[in-house]
Amino acid sequence: MTSDSSGASPLTRRTLLAGSAAAAVGTGVNAARAEAPPADKVAPGIFRYRIGSYELTALYDGIWYRPITDKFIKAPFAEVERALDQAFMPHDKLATPFTTLIVNTGKKLVLIDTGTGGQITPSAGVLRDNLAAAGIDAAAVDQIVISHFHPDHINGIKDKDNALIFPRAEIMVPEPEWAYWMNDANMDAAEADLKLTFRNQRRIFSDIAEQVTRFTPGKEVAPGIETIAAPGHTPGHTVFAIHSGSDSLLVLGDTAQHPAVFARHPDWQAAFDVDGPEAIATRKKIFDRAAADRMLVTGYHFPFPACGHLIKTATGYEHVPVEWQTSL
Ligand SMILES: [Zn+2]
Repeated sequence: MTSDSSGASPLTRRTLLAGSAAAAVGTGVNAARAEAPPADKVAPGIFRYRIGSYELTALYDGIWYRPITDKFIKAPFAEVERALDQAFMPHDKLATPFTTLIVNTGKKLVLIDTGTGGQITPSAGVLRDNLAAAGIDAAAVDQIVISHFHPDHINGIKDKDNALIFPRAEIMVPEPEWAYWMNDANMDAAEADLKLTFRNQRRIFSDIAEQVTRFTPGKEVAPGIETIAAPGHTPGHTVFAIHSGSDSLLVLGDTAQHPAVFARHPDWQAAFDVDGPEAIATRKKIFDRAAADRMLVTGYHFPFPACGHLIKTATGYEHVPVEWQTSL
């Protein structure tokens, strides 16, 4: 049946807007009462959930709209543009949110990755505000566990003045990550841009090397927190599996950046992957496991609260976010 024969006009954006304009005119009497001042601020970025007896707190650090060019993803740019369109994203910026995770095991407070420390972009660096809003004292964090050494994961160890943000925390880092990035020969051989990354790692770690414990992926770093080698993005990039009771959570780190791009297109390499083909193989292996086992996952650059499931599709994976919850 066509709209003509039914007598109804087709619903278009224009008729929708015209309808709302007419409605607004009709509510003139109540409109005066609706003149509330704008709040001018957003709600804290905290999401709390449970894995067995462990209480987890996802803490949002902010978002970076990272400028990208047609060289950023190693794929035909027309295909990349199509994927960005499908995700309602611009072609020249990649939404890159940052979400860290606090695990309260009942005995220890463990922080997985530390955010930007406000040292990457003005639109990120609110981790400490969210920590306070969550009622957690930075000095109460016992242990920091790092997935890899890119600045958005380690800069939150220190503030801009090089003071420790979590003064009591033992810092645990993957041994292969330390071996690669703290090697001066690798720094000398790197291109200018990447040299900045090496220098930043020295700024963060050189004067606290004594407080840093290096772990070999494959071992537990705390009771119920298993480490899994996930190389490619960086040589020592590590994924964490948190187990408590019969529940588990996979902490994916940077196994994929924004899922609307890199989970839907698992074969795409980002320019900053140290070993692109290895990053792809790792992504598929870990995502296949998560999808097959229907595991809860969290991704450091997934939209907040960054937590959900992965399902396998004909061409890649789709991230299905969790529902918000008002009680544990
Ligand atoms: Zn990252």
